[in-house]
Parts: sequence; structure tokens; C-alpha cells
Amino acid sequence: MHITYDYEIELKKKHINDLFKSFHVGEIELSRMYNPYNYRNKSQMTYKLSKSKNIVCGLYEEFSHNIITADNNILQSKKANEVISALNKVLTKNKISVYDEKTRTGLLRHVFIRYGFNTKELMLVLVTNGEMFPGRNNVLKDLNKLDLGITTIVQNFNTRDTSIVLGDKEKVLYGPGFIYETVGDYKFKISPRSFFQVNTFGMKILYEKAIELAKLSKNDIVIDAYCGVGTISIFLSKYVKQVYGVEINRGAIKDAIINQKINDRNNIEFIADDATNFITKLAKTREKIDVVVMDPPREGSTKAFINAIKYLNVKKVIYISCNPDTLKRDLYQFFENDYNLECMHAVDMFPRTLHLETIAVLKLDDELEYLENLVKENKKNNTKKYNENKLRYIPKADIEMMREDRYEAEGFKNNKKKKY
Ligand code: SAH
Repeated sequence: MHITYDYEIELKKKHINDLFKSFHVGEIELSRMYNPYNYRNKSQMTYKLSKSKNIVCGLYEEFSHNIITADNNILQSKKANEVISALNKVLTKNKISVYDEKTRTGLLRHVFIRYGFNTKELMLVLVTNGEMFPGRNNVLKDLNKLDLGITTIVQNFNTRDTSIVLGDKEKVLYGPGFIYETVGDYKFKISPRSFFQVNTFGMKILYEKAIELAKLSKNDIVIDAYCGVGTISIFLSKYVKQVYGVEINRGAIKDAIINQKINDRNNIEFIADDATNFITKLAKTREKIDVVVMDPPREGSTKAFINAIKYLNVKKVIYISCNPDTLKRDLYQFFENDYNLECMHAVDMFPRTLHLETIAVLKLDDELEYLENLVKENKKNNTKKYNENKLRYIPKADIEMMREDRYEAEGFKNNKKKKY
């Protein structure tokens, strides 16, 4: 990107405001990052042999399998850049064989690093085509001599014909096999394969903003859906009565339980399950849930998930999204279910890229309750005996009529019409 960060912020803000313009939610603010460079705590690169037969690594070019090498990646931590270039020399010196995607032969495929900006702990993962790693001990010895501040080294086996970096199996070669990182008042355990927000500083800004907008109360029972290693659950647990964190990745849930213990939080329960499955089960038993915080992957959530939220009569939803397009699609589904959009806020979690995070706060339209109370009042003033149970069965057409009457009476001042 050849534009200034100020201009990038302006463009992103315009994009997000244009995208959600028809929702009439007011100006969407965008929180910027203090440092738009070298913020990524996770780095991954793919190996190849240079023309001069040196081992080099780089990133795949977009939509292709060409590897573009760069000595200094401007997004990842400076520490990762330092380790990767030192490692390239060590690998070249020890003549480690490099994987060739076309012939599917050779050994070393990728390097993967996770760095704790606050703890200074660093995890190095070497991804190899199978378990065999001739020259491994020499590589470890040379790295040790260089004293780069690597706190753990893991070998990950990936024999699949795919551009997904990490395989399912791994072996710890040095140290504990994971790192710790602190964010705000909390400490988190990060293993090679568990999800962790890539921008450590941005993550704190994002969570604090989401919590501020959520206006939580001490009695709230909250679901943190798509909870990863439990970071949001832990951040919000001190403001509420109980949190249920649900996540599909079992490894992440294991880490979440450990994170809960490290941080001494005792009002969180973590569940390894598909978020839609979990919430639909709750809907069947009509559990009382006050707030849902959801942070799904780029594909967004599902209709069934959103419908179950409505069925549970959840009053407030905080939707954190890394993909504004699927957020928009899912918001329509919320509107279908009588939720109103209260406010939105964006956080520039990924400076110098096209991505950002958006928070949307939704509230269940309390109009139906209001109308029911109105009917109750009228009936009370009426001398006729009246069956309370029937209240829940106001025909939809009648509700629409009452809605119209109310809009007319209030001169559209409190316009709760769906905002799209
Ligand atoms: N809230 C966390 C993680 C967000 S990323 C954080 O801020 O760190 C999205 C997470 O959703 C990932 O951890 C992914 O494993 C999980 N996920 C993906 N599909 C899911 C599903 N169907 N049910 C539950 N979790 C899912």
C-alpha cells in the first residue's frame, strides 16, 4: 500500500459507512492503531530455494502459489523478522532440504512464529513434510548459539497437498511447546494451532470497546459464541454473573479452560461444540440468557443460530465481525427476528491491509412487550374478565395494526421500524 495511514483510515471509514448507510445507525467511528506496522504476533512463511541455492522464505502471492520473498515484512513483529532471517542462514548452512510443491518431495515447508509482545516469549514452529528431519539437531544447536530469545520450538508434520500451513501432528523439540502472552490484566496460553487475535494491541482496544458498548450488568448471563481460547469470556467475566463460552475447536477449549484457571475466573463454563448446535439445544430447554456476544469466522454465523437467539428471547447481542459483508447479511436475519441495530463501531485491527473489525450492538425490539402491556392496561380498566394467557397469541396482523397506530400517535418520533 502506497498511501499514508491517515488516508487509509479515511478510506476504510468511508467504506464501512457506505456499506451500512441504509441501516441509519449514525456515523460509524473507526478506532485507529497507535502503530500501524510490525503489529502481527503471528507470522508464517513458505520455503523455497533461491537461484543461488540459498534457503529463503516468503509469502504466497495472492491467488497463486508463487512465493514472494521479502527480508523485512512490515506487518509482522521485528522479532519474527530477525528470527526468520537468522534461521534461513542456519538452514542453508546445514543444507536442510526444502519441500517442492510440484514434485511433493523435500523436507521443510513453512516457518510459523508466535510472539508475545508483552512477555517477549517466542514460539518457533518448523513445518516439515513428515516426521523425519535429518539435520534437526544441528539446526537446534546453531539456533541455541545465536541466542535469539526463542522460548520454545515445535516441529509440525504436514504431508498434505495443501497451502494450509499447519498439519494435525506435532512434536515439541525445545521448551514447553506453547507461549504465554498478557493482554490488559490477563494472561493467555497460546499453542501452535489455537486461534489468537493477530494484533495483540488491537485486541485489547476491540474487547474494551465491545464491553463498553454492551453496557453489561452484574446479573447478566452471557454466551460468548465462537470464543476461541476464551479471551473475550475472560475479559467480560468480571462485569457479569455467568459466562458460557462455546467454540468448535477442542484444542482451543482446552486452552480456554487453562486460561480461565491462570486468570482465576470462576464464573465461566467453556463448552466444545458447534455454536449453532449449542444454542439450539439451549433454545429447546428455554435457558435464560441475557446477552450473546458473538465473534464468528469470516463466513459469519448461521440462520439457525440467529433464530435460536430470538427463541431464547435474548435482549442484547454484541456481534463482533472480521468480515463486514457477512455481518451485513447476518444483520438482515436479526432484523427479520425483530432486533434493532443500536450502534456500530469499527476497529482497525489490520492496518495496511483491506481488513478491519466491526462491532454491532443489537437489541430485541421491546415493542411487542410494550403492546402487550398496553392491552393488559386496557383490559384492567375494562370490567370484563380477561384471560391473561391469551395475551401471547396476539395475531400478527393485529400487531401490525397496533404498530401503525402507535407510529401515527407518536408522530414517528420513536420510529422502531426495521432499519433497512
Ligand atoms: N472470539 C475469539 C475467536 C474468534 S475467531 C477471539 O476473539 O479470539 C472465530 C472462532 O470461531 C475460531 O476460534 C473458530 O475455531 C471458531 N469456530 C468456527 N466455526 C465454529 C462453529 N461452527 N462453532 C463454534 N465455533 C466455531
